[in-house]
Amino acid sequence: MKLAVWRGDITRLEVDAIVNAANTSLLGGGGVDGAIHRAAGPELRDYCRNLGGCVVGEAKLTPGFRLPARYIIHTVGPIWRGGAHGEPTQLAACYRNSLALADSHELASIAFPAISCGIYGYPAEQAAEVAVTALQQALDGASHVRRVVLVAFSAEQEALYRRLLGA
Ligand code: ADP
Repeated sequence: MKLAVWRGDITRLEVDAIVNAANTSLLGGGGVDGAIHRAAGPELRDYCRNLGGCVVGEAKLTPGFRLPARYIIHTVGPIWRGGAHGEPTQLAACYRNSLALADSHELASIAFPAISCGIYGYPAEQAAEVAVTALQQALDGASHVRRVVLVAFSAEQEALYRRLLGA
């Protein structure tokens, strides 16, 4: 099993890439996005201006700038609208495409926040099930990524991940 759970601030992790739960502009926002932009420094926003935004479910890579992580993979999660508007498919695509992007850059470790579970309102339990399923499936096809960290920002989120992983 290459899936691990860690509780804390994702901006402090020394991994090859941390994933940002960004918005379509990629120019920063609240929650984990704001924390990552603050910790990476203003160079991140300058770099992102040239990326042309990002579509829901897709992912784009930038340097980590002042972060301990080498890279940031920015993905845009779905805004929860009741669950019947393609949200699970879009959320699964965020995890799958972020992992594939890390793998294509030959990165070995990647850490994910709970995409869409804050401001975007996705129910935490349903999102965690989508995340674990999508990552377990995608990890089978990955040739470089060896370690995936699910980052929980709260004790509840940590307990949820641990229960799903049977730990
Ligand atoms: P979204 O807009 O995709 O919902 P948010 O940033 O609002 O993104 O929330 C996504 C998840 O990230 C939430 O579970 C939130 O608690 C968590 N989070 C917020 N700040 C951090 C941080 N510094 N490190 C890790 N997780 C964080």
